[in-house]
Order: sequence, then C-alpha cells, then structure tokens
Amino acid sequence: MSDLLVTNVRPDAKTTSDILIRNGRIAAVAPNLPRKPGLPVHDGGGAIAIAPFVEPHVHLDKILWGLPWHGISVPRTLREMIDNEVEIRRTLPWGVLERAGNLMRQCIAMGSTHIRSHVDISTAYKLDNLHGVLKAWEKTKHAVGLELVAFPQTGMMIDPGTADLMEAALGEGASVIGGIDPGGIDGDPKGHLDTIFDIASRKGAKIDIHLHEAGDLGLFEMGLIVERTRALGMQGRVVVSHAFCLGDPQRDKVERMIDGVVEARIGIISSVPGANVFPPMFELARRGVKCAVASDSLRDTWNPHGNGDMLERCWLLAYRTGSRTDDRLIECLGMGTSRGAELLDLQGHGLEIGCEGSLVLIAGENLAQIVVDRPQRALVVKNGRIVARNGQWVD
Ligand SMILES: [Zn+2]
Repeated sequence: MSDLLVTNVRPDAKTTSDILIRNGRIAAVAPNLPRKPGLPVHDGGGAIAIAPFVEPHVHLDKILWGLPWHGISVPRTLREMIDNEVEIRRTLPWGVLERAGNLMRQCIAMGSTHIRSHVDISTAYKLDNLHGVLKAWEKTKHAVGLELVAFPQTGMMIDPGTADLMEAALGEGASVIGGIDPGGIDGDPKGHLDTIFDIASRKGAKIDIHLHEAGDLGLFEMGLIVERTRALGMQGRVVVSHAFCLGDPQRDKVERMIDGVVEARIGIISSVPGANVFPPMFELARRGVKCAVASDSLRDTWNPHGNGDMLERCWLLAYRTGSRTDDRLIECLGMGTSRGAELLDLQGHGLEIGCEGSLVLIAGENLAQIVVDRPQRALVVKNGRIVARNGQWVD
C-alpha cells in the first residue's frame, strides 16, 4: 500500500484534476492538490484516467507466449484438442511458473489489475497447474489481484478422482469451481452439474462454467444451471462463460431463458468469439445481468490470437456489435472495466474517494476514441504503486 500523487489527468476524460492516493486508497480528487515532502509525484501530462481493466476469464496455465510460434494446422474435434494440449504440455521447455508469470505481467502492462483464471485440474495434472500459477503470482501479487477456478478441462465424470481434486483445490488457493460443456465432454449434463454444484454449495465456493454448447442443448443445460442455482440458494454466485446459446436465433426461447438468468442472478462472460454467436451483452446489461468481456484462451494450443489487452477486447465487442455511437462505445469500455468488477464482486473499483488507489492512464481525447484507437497504456497503478509504464511491466 503506497502513497502517490498523480497530477494533471482527466478522470473519465472529464476536467483536469490531480488524484492523491494515500495508503493504497484514493484520498482526494481535485485540481492543484498540494505537493508534500516525500510524496512521490507523477505528472500525467493531461492523460485520461480510468479505473483499471478487469480480466474475468483467462487461462494462465495454458499460455505458450514467449515460446516459439505454435501453429495450429489441423482442425480437430474438441476431444482431439484436449488430448493434443495434454500431449504438447508434456514437451514444453517452460513450466506453468514461467508461462503464467509471462501472461500475468502482460495483462498488468495492458492495465488489468485483477484476473480470474481457470487452471486445469485432472488426475494427470493433479494440482500442479494451480501450484504453478500461485507460485508465479508471488512475484506479481503487489500488482494484480488473482482468483482461481478449479477447471476440469479434460472431463470430470469421465476421469474419476477429478472432482475430489477440484474440491481439494479449494483448500489450496482456488475459490471457484469450474465446469465445462456437461453434455459434450462428460456426456452427462445432470451428473456434471450436480457434482460441481454439490462441491460449491458445501464449500461456500463460487461457480464459473464454460458453456460452449449452443442451440437447444445449450439452452437445456442453461436451464439446468438456473434450476440448481435457485434450488441451492446460490443466486449471485454463479457465472456462465461463453453462453453461446443465449445468442441463438430462437429469440422466444432465449428471452425465456434470460428471464431465468435474471432471476437466478447468474453472471455472463463473453470473449466475443470470432466464429460463434455470443450473448446479447447490451440487452443482458439493460436487464440487470452482471456481464463482462474477457480474453479467455489466447496464444495457446487452442487459439493463436489474443494479447491479454482488455481494451482490445472492448473494441472487439464494439466492432462485432456494430457499435458506432459514443454512448455505445463507452458502454463497451465498461464491459472491460466496471462491469467486470461488478461481476467478480470486487470492492472499491473506481476513481472516487475511498476506492482502491488503482488506475490506468491513457493519452487520448475521450473514452469513445480510446476504444476505437486503443492507445498504449501510459501508466498502470495498483494500490498507489506504479506497476507498468508505456505498455511495459515495471519490476
Ligand atoms: Zn476458457
């Protein structure tokens, strides 16, 4: 927790002000705040100041960044993709420690000061990926908050012992129970969902489920998730990532499902995928659903794209939804910042007095323009400490 006076900035692109951070929290926002001996000062040069980006869904243990280019040459089935990843990970020269550390530093340099990451748990990996990511975080803890999802990437019902390991992960640093395509991977939607809801409700953990399954199967599974969330009183503690089924053209069915999502207070995360339909994010937000965008899988055996830049993800949402008005572009920015913070229940995210003393400076004209132009992050501050400058992590 540090002190810092950031001068000559425009909070939310409005009038020029100084921002004083004391003991890691915002203590004052006003023009011409007094300089005091011993108080570090950073001249913001008229840049826009925003509250930090939030990365609510990434896979720190999967990243291959820093290693030679990994080409994805053969289209594969989901099962083949899973097996392919397991095989490739066996041969990598770097472990999770190095690779996860690389991606965390990149996310921080791009302005994210909180990350929710899934980590693969299986009887083959055991808790090794979780331990590797936690070890990497030791070096970046001052710069980024981290919450981890125990994620059964390779299947749970088909790999007996995985559910027990996921439960054990909750005692070793994970706080969220993950799930994935209950029909497509485990072939047992009810069994898969009953298992993860049982662990989470007994342990007081949150849930975050990858649901790529689209159309009627996806809507059926979303219905099962809504049903279990209500029955176990887990409203507000369940997130569904991807939820392609909510982008389905069968609007009547989708509308009814959104009613259930609203009632069960289920959060929705989208990576704004290139090849799939995705949920109607603005409509969800208008109806009070907590929703946000995220990077998801990037530069790994699944996806050659991505760079951990949430501002780019906000732009991608704007681009794919044909957002052109300033209001809509600003709404897209919110999907990578304040809405991500709401979705993850982060306290003190903002630039008001009393909020966490964390901010991002970006040189630009206004909030709509920075979504379109995606300028470099001039400065990233976490709890009053400068953690990145000009797009580079500061050690
Ligand atoms: Zn994912």
